[in-house]
Amino acid sequence: MSLRHVIPPYLLDAIAERGGEKFPRAARAARSCQVSDESCRSLRAEGLRYTPVAKLGEGAQGSQGAMHSQVIGAGAGVNRLVHDAQGTETLPGVLVRSEGEGAVSDEPVNEAYDGLGASYSLFAEAFERNSLDGKGMPLIASVHYGQDYDNAFFDGRLMVFGDGDDEVFAGFTGSLSIIGHELSHGVISHTADLEYRGQPGALNEHCADVFGALTEQHDSGQNAEDATWLIGAGIFTPEVTGKALRSMLEPGTAYDDDVLGRDPQPDHMDRYVTTESDNGGVHLNSGIPNRAFALAATALGGPAWETVGQVWFAVLTGPDITTRTDFAGFAALTIAEAVAAFGEGSDVHDALVQSWGAVGVTRGANRGNVGSSW
Ligand SMILES: [Zn+2]
Repeated sequence: MSLRHVIPPYLLDAIAERGGEKFPRAARAARSCQVSDESCRSLRAEGLRYTPVAKLGEGAQGSQGAMHSQVIGAGAGVNRLVHDAQGTETLPGVLVRSEGEGAVSDEPVNEAYDGLGASYSLFAEAFERNSLDGKGMPLIASVHYGQDYDNAFFDGRLMVFGDGDDEVFAGFTGSLSIIGHELSHGVISHTADLEYRGQPGALNEHCADVFGALTEQHDSGQNAEDATWLIGAGIFTPEVTGKALRSMLEPGTAYDDDVLGRDPQPDHMDRYVTTESDNGGVHLNSGIPNRAFALAATALGGPAWETVGQVWFAVLTGPDITTRTDFAGFAALTIAEAVAAFGEGSDVHDALVQSWGAVGVTRGANRGNVGSSW
């Protein structure tokens, strides 16, 4: 997979263009982020610049130094390695906390370590999946990447966190939904591998939000009806008028700020955004399936990873989804899976028919004739 960034380009553009007076440091950081992300992309095309850590695989796990799944066999459990890039752009940096080692004095290191663990636990405990590839691949992170770096990204093997600029972004390790979102891109790339453009791309973003939110809810044992359904709560400083990067339950309401503008996510097919930017609006139109998932989960109540989460995981890892599945195709697959797993006319089936209708992806159900639209 190519790089998946947490902060979408339109948000960095807004800060770079309008942030100058109120947030001069953030505006500079946003501009340099845009530039350095482009150099990241070209580096990705050449093959990654960072080299696997020599230490990886030494010790109890075996002697191979390569960063691949064979190092850790299936069933070996979680294997985390957190590095410190020390304010440089050299990856992965110095290894500062390995699996089983105690907390260190640097809080972002511990937050990254705990976040990787929470994400591993969700997939292992709720979905019986051993790490992102299903074969126990190590979870590797680098913190303190670059100077005032306003983003976090995952390239399929390494999760990289900037510290933020301290004016708009407070740092990225503090949000479990962000860490869960990024690592879920790894699961997606190893399974459905939805093409990162247009509706399949928005479904890729959507599924990463689903399992990102579930990472947070599973970690705190939270029921769907008690959850915030926010992605990235805590990444903004108090200077920003906003609560998070996205709201799954109420897309379009996560922030409304002088500089950042208003959260542009649509919450219904009537407001679907047709654009060439952001890979065809992958971070925008994901709001539509996000709302369908959150509506169904909250209507059902209880732990969402036991209800609609099971349906989504089965569809994502099942044989019928393709790299080009669109919203209507995905909705049909989830409804069929709900029938197969929970039964025709079950609460899960009814909730999904209702919620896909409510966001306009399927016809009819929003007028109350549950079950008749499919
Ligand atoms: Zn993403």
